[in-house]
Amino acid sequence: MMRWNGWGDSSVNYPLSEMAETYLQEKLGVLVSFPDVSKNSLLTQIPSSKISPHPLIQTTSSDRLYHSRGQSLPDWIALRYGNITTFPDGVVYPQNLEEVRETISFSYKNNICLIPYGGGTSVVGHINPTQNDNPILSVNMKNLNCLLELDKKSQLATIQTGTSGPLIEKQLNQQGYTLGHFPQSFEYSTLGGWIATRSSGQQSYHYGRIEDLFVGGHLETPVGSFSLPPHPASAAGPDLKQLVLGSEGRIGILTKAIVRVQPIPEVDVFYGAFFRNWNSGCDAVKSIVQNNIQISICRLSDPTETEITLLLSGKENQIKWLDRGLKTLNYHSDRCLLILGITGNRNKKRIIRHEVKSLIKNHSGIFVGRIIGNSWEKNRFKTPYLRNTLWDYGVAVDTLETAVPWKNVHKTVNEIKSAISNNLEFFNEKVLVFSHLSHIYRDGASIYTTFLFRRCKDPDELFIRWKKMKQGASKAIVSNGGTISHQHGVGTDHAPYLQEEKGELGIQTIKAICNEFDPKGLLNPGKLVM
Ligand SMILES: Cc1cc2nc3c(=O)[nH]c(=O)nc-3n(C[C@H](O)[C@H](O)[C@H](O)COP(=O)(O)OP(=O)(O)OC[C@H]3O[C@@H](n4cnc5c(N)ncnc54)[C@H](O)[C@@H]3O)c2cc1C
Repeated sequence: MMRWNGWGDSSVNYPLSEMAETYLQEKLGVLVSFPDVSKNSLLTQIPSSKISPHPLIQTTSSDRLYHSRGQSLPDWIALRYGNITTFPDGVVYPQNLEEVRETISFSYKNNICLIPYGGGTSVVGHINPTQNDNPILSVNMKNLNCLLELDKKSQLATIQTGTSGPLIEKQLNQQGYTLGHFPQSFEYSTLGGWIATRSSGQQSYHYGRIEDLFVGGHLETPVGSFSLPPHPASAAGPDLKQLVLGSEGRIGILTKAIVRVQPIPEVDVFYGAFFRNWNSGCDAVKSIVQNNIQISICRLSDPTETEITLLLSGKENQIKWLDRGLKTLNYHSDRCLLILGITGNRNKKRIIRHEVKSLIKNHSGIFVGRIIGNSWEKNRFKTPYLRNTLWDYGVAVDTLETAVPWKNVHKTVNEIKSAISNNLEFFNEKVLVFSHLSHIYRDGASIYTTFLFRRCKDPDELFIRWKKMKQGASKAIVSNGGTISHQHGVGTDHAPYLQEEKGELGIQTIKAICNEFDPKGLLNPGKLVM
């Protein structure tokens, strides 16, 4: 069962080793935990629903609490300290297209705001009800979870959008196919959420981002149905799929999507490599992409993240041996870990492995084979469970991300990290901040930054500290010409920075599109554009 106030299945834990705990205390200071508010006490705080009864609408406190917040750090603060100011007035779980239509039509007649809800894994406030005079309804798509059609000849699958990652893969795998979209939130996020937020999976370098996979579908809107036929390519004017991608629930409810799938690959393997420092690692991954070497994932950690990854692997003895070996070969504290993968057929794997190994060597790197890659693979969807453990130790965690051209990568990484550290220093607190390049492109890379800091007793104070760091980092991103999001989307948290990227005319255009589909402005108000 999904935790109501944290990440993931409540029966899954990710314990912290003694070594990791000592490391954290050294970096952040003595750790003090503060108790969470109980679910029962929160349930009693929920005001009565403003929605008039309807057979499709659930108004229990439990339904409303569960849909009140997502997975951002402000969401965790609200849920764990009992500081929630807005709840949806009800939740609908449509079973079919007719119920989606009925929900939209009822809402439009009664001026009810609608928030399409996939897996609720948003980390930027997408699914949170914002202050509004109108009643608010969450539309949880989880019952629309079937593979409707698999066209093996065209390698296209039509899938209902409430389908979660594991259910998509299960249904496709049974017929020998895969979508290959694996965000770290894979366990709970859904196809509809991925499309509406322009998500990127861990192996997007091989399979493509969601916009490369999404070729058509069906959207229900307050002004009618909107169908997008699956053309392999088209020169027939602007591509209307782009209106749906990244629409964040503002223009309608996507009920089914047609996506590109492929046969399950013969091999899907992950390797580790080390570089002496960040610069040589960056040069190597840039060469990989610019030389068109067909790996599936390329994730380069800075020295701090490298140290933490090894520390968290839980294999203390193996790590000590590895550390000794690397030091003998002159890979010291500046060393950077690269995780890379190869997906495809056996012959191709052999060729790519050879190409990538010699490229790594040419950049003074060392290829260390599969042990670290296997450990990464084993924990690829488990790492988020650490957020629960760290919280219990009194540590808050957040992540942010961007993408910039190669020429700006170093400066942007450094300025994001400095902005986060400097802004917390103001409160006389220390932060542990580290980055990795998570996706690489011919012309640039995405930068993913994680920061850990001590919690305090007062939720408002904790929120203010987070906000200072987030604002500092966001300003560093936009001032370096980075996008405010490479994969998490805009929601509420990134909306103030969108104009910098899209310009005034761009924002007006997005608003005009929302208005065309949703003239009363009832769909997910306050998200994407304010
Ligand atoms: C631990 C963790 C790891 C993550 N890792 C990644 C990652 O690797 N890559 C990545 O891209 N993101 C990642 N995310 C962010 C998040 O998982 C993605 O944004 C994801 O795409 C959201 O999907 P969801 O189904 O949970 O959508 P929700 O959070 O429920 O909704 C997100 C937005 O999509 C809209 N929406 C959802 N379904 C529909 C629909 N059917 N029709 C119209 N609009 C809809 C909602 O209204 C909302 O605006 C991570 C989040 C967490 C918590």
